[in-house]
Amino acid sequence: ANPDQDFVLKTVKSRDVHFVRFWFTDVLGTMKSFAVVPNELDDAFADGMGFDGSCIEGFCRTQESDMLAYPDASTFQVLPWRPESNAVARMFCAVRTPDGRPFEGDPRHVLARTVEKAREMGYVFNVGPELEFYYFKDAEGTEVLDRGGYFDLTSLDYASDLRRDTVLTLEKMGIPVEYSHHENGPSQHEIDLRFTDALSMADAVMTYKLVVKEIAMKHGVYASFMPKPMADEPGSGMHVHQSLFDFDGNNAFYDPEDPQGYHLSKVAKHYVAGLLKYAPEFCVVTNQYVNSYKRLISGGEAPTYLSWASSNRSTLVRIPGYRPNREDACRIELRSPDPAANPYLAFAVMLAAGLKGVEDELELQPPTEDRDLFSLPRQDLRRQGFQTLPESLGEAVELFAESELMRETLGEHIHSYLVAAKRAEWNDYQGNVSAWERDRYLAVL
Ligand code: GLN
Ligand code: MG
Ligand code: MG
Ligand code: MG
Repeated sequence: ANPDQDFVLKTVKSRDVHFVRFWFTDVLGTMKSFAVVPNELDDAFADGMGFDGSCIEGFCRTQESDMLAYPDASTFQVLPWRPESNAVARMFCAVRTPDGRPFEGDPRHVLARTVEKAREMGYVFNVGPELEFYYFKDAEGTEVLDRGGYFDLTSLDYASDLRRDTVLTLEKMGIPVEYSHHENGPSQHEIDLRFTDALSMADAVMTYKLVVKEIAMKHGVYASFMPKPMADEPGSGMHVHQSLFDFDGNNAFYDPEDPQGYHLSKVAKHYVAGLLKYAPEFCVVTNQYVNSYKRLISGGEAPTYLSWASSNRSTLVRIPGYRPNREDACRIELRSPDPAANPYLAFAVMLAAGLKGVEDELELQPPTEDRDLFSLPRQDLRRQGFQTLPESLGEAVELFAESELMRETLGEHIHSYLVAAKRAEWNDYQGNVSAWERDRYLAVL
């Protein structure tokens, strides 16, 4: 028998678990779930549990709607915010078709497949994301809870208790937190997870987003991962720290002899070159909403142009300062993604881009430690020959539609679904006339 499955069956008894929630995500990263009673678990481990996939975004058409969810016993956790008697637990699932094949619309499978590719090249892909979010009084508007700023620890930071509760809940679920602090915006916060392999981390990110929202709700407030909820305040990003380790646990990104002094290996530099090259093509995955592009503008510590540096926080890739005797912490940080991305697909596309850089031994351009460029609008940057990220969802989806690497990485099913869904979203937005337009034009035109 499988020891993880035995552990699940034992824990279900000892912790009085009455509902086991099966978790998976749709293509956009919305959590989907159904509850199974403990008696069904044996069968579910062996043969999966059937469900109707036709109502799930990006899954399938009604005429081929039967799907099976196979729970991954190693992801079993009791949900600490639910009652202790008749408790609720969860497991992440692999989604399969009735003939037993992995379902190509399952984002978790896409990441598993890409991680496997890294493994074939001799690497384990580690990621550490920093998710930012806002607390608001409710979901109806943007009334903030506090006026604190970056790293503020004052009575202004009303949300300390919320963060504390959130961090403790995550730890109870086996998700270690490294940092938590107030961010730049009023009522904006950040909680950073300790790095681990990408598949475990994508599961952890899904859990994290749910826990932040659950704990906020418990305290009578609302938490939002919207990339740019307020025009005049910073957006919320999801910086992703990344490294490749070999199977002996050595960091393949670390090289003390790096002639440029960044302590980065050749592999790391090829990897960064891959990220820079393919960032415009994968942007619609890491930044998937109309609103995402309102964050990616000059001046807000969010990146716009394709560059890297160590001390410059407006570049797409930043190399965090090297800490002596911490080879394991040697890594690169991609700063474009936002927390509204599907973490499975986001980690998959960045890994695919980086690995392509390694495979093709792409040469890394010189760093941009220069400060003067950051306040320039994208049009000016382009005129001066700097490559930039797409400026809108509309631009991003067309670059993605043409991308061979994206089609290969995500598979035909998800690639074509995203192209259609994101084109439709962009057209819908373009058809909308906003208050900004009426304010600006109506009285003068
Ligand atoms: N909020 C910024 C962003 O949108 C990041 C700010 C920071 O962490 N330094 O990416
Ligand atoms: Mg941070
Ligand atoms: Mg931050
Ligand atoms: Mg960061």
